[in-house]
Amino acid sequence: MQVKDVGEFGLIRRWERELAQDPEQVAQGIGDDAAVLDFPGGRQILATTDTLVESVHFDLAFTSPRQLGKKCMAVNLSDIAAMGGRARYALIALGLPGSTELAWLEDLYRGLQEEASRWSTWIVGGDTVRSPSGLVITVTVLGQVPQGRAVPRSGARPGDLVVVTGDLGGSAAGLASLTRSPSPVEPGVLEYVRRRQLEPIPRLAEGEIMAHHGASAMIDVSDGLASEVNHLARLSRVRVVVEEESIPMAPATRTLARVLEADALAWALNGGEDYELVSTVAPEQFAAMARAVRERTGTCLTVVGRVEAGAGCYLMKEGKRRRLEPTSYDHFLTTSGPSRTSP
Ligand SMILES: [Mg+2]
Repeated sequence: MQVKDVGEFGLIRRWERELAQDPEQVAQGIGDDAAVLDFPGGRQILATTDTLVESVHFDLAFTSPRQLGKKCMAVNLSDIAAMGGRARYALIALGLPGSTELAWLEDLYRGLQEEASRWSTWIVGGDTVRSPSGLVITVTVLGQVPQGRAVPRSGARPGDLVVVTGDLGGSAAGLASLTRSPSPVEPGVLEYVRRRQLEPIPRLAEGEIMAHHGASAMIDVSDGLASEVNHLARLSRVRVVVEEESIPMAPATRTLARVLEADALAWALNGGEDYELVSTVAPEQFAAMARAVRERTGTCLTVVGRVEAGAGCYLMKEGKRRRLEPTSYDHFLTTSGPSRTSP
């Protein structure tokens, strides 16, 4: 049996089963957005790491080194956001071809530093090695959360609302616009969707506020709404029902879908890399949560569905429900090599 027979999520479940976990100090080990580790003084540490590989996650033809640095940091910060935590420290490990221009590398670091500083995060170390082909960037972020306040993927309860920050599908729209050169659209359209793809913003402030206002479960949108709600449903042992017409999409995303004759809904459900947060919350707590998030960050929360007793995920449209299965990218189940430039 080979890695490609098992797939990325199959591998994660295997590590969950087979790697030893310290039951004393590990409150949440493998399988959530970040690990939650007990620490003296009434706090818990959050730890998360992500690797981005050239030609799998990014194409140097589309991104500047500064944008790439910012994005590598942002996708890790997003996992801290998904736990309701605050980011503190980062480590950077780089695999570089020897021919990498020093000026290019300095711009990459500028991007990493810029995004880290924006969220009061300090880069405290790392490693640099030679890569025989292509660039490999691993960022590890450590964050903190008050004891017992990390929001897991497993806390959704029947009766909760399912809410998302911002809008979905914009990042996939941006990627499509880079690879398929659309016919002319208003200048703001390409600018919006490409920024969503190349310079995603981690929802750290929103995540902390949502945790404070009763988020029962939370996850960030790295693979697409369909995949994320399936994680929430499976780990919380509940059913999630999403209302198709409630899924928030930016006007620019819809415009680009029209121009490219693409399916905006498919971008929102399976495109991924939006780095918005999907959370569940009791209905009576939602209004206060949404108000606090809007007043302190300017970000809108949208109710996209609800949690029911049962299992699996469903998409509702005009009173009819159909199964909502993820069809997003799996690193090992793809048969035709890299099919996109994103995780
Ligand atoms: Mg995540």
